[in-house]
Amino acid sequence: MTVVTRPLVRVGQGWDLHRLVAGGPLRLAGIDIAHDRGAKGHSDGDVVLHALTDAVLGAVGAGDIGSHFPDTDPRWKGADSAVFLEEAVRVIRDRGFDIGNVDVNVLLERPKLAPHREAMRRRLAGILGVTEDCVSLKAKTNEGLGEIGSGDALAAMAVVGLVYTD
Ligand code: MG
Repeated sequence: MTVVTRPLVRVGQGWDLHRLVAGGPLRLAGIDIAHDRGAKGHSDGDVVLHALTDAVLGAVGAGDIGSHFPDTDPRWKGADSAVFLEEAVRVIRDRGFDIGNVDVNVLLERPKLAPHREAMRRRLAGILGVTEDCVSLKAKTNEGLGEIGSGDALAAMAVVGLVYTD
């Protein structure tokens, strides 16, 4: 019998939701999108970066965004959430892993994200330190249903695959 002491591939998932309130821009995947509403949050409220941070940390069992960056800490008030994701990537690299790929779904009624998709992928690739072909970002509406459908909230879900490189 072969005993695998360290998996070569690991997977993590993350999810986040924020309220949308009057006043833009909308911060998403590390870029500002012109919109009449923005995400309410202790930090910049970037659901894509928050979901990705939880996915990356989760892949190595390193807790979650709340345990690393508590929203009671004034240091993170209005913070650029890229800092959170960069720290999560540092944690997994310290353990010998690298990002294989990420796949993100954004649930948002409006605005349409298609015109911003490539800029968002580029920004995510930069934060993660990978090439753009390792980054997928998709967007869906909630068909007008619930708080997301009424434009009062947006959410993101993320999956990340890690590969052991040490
Ligand atoms: Mg959040």
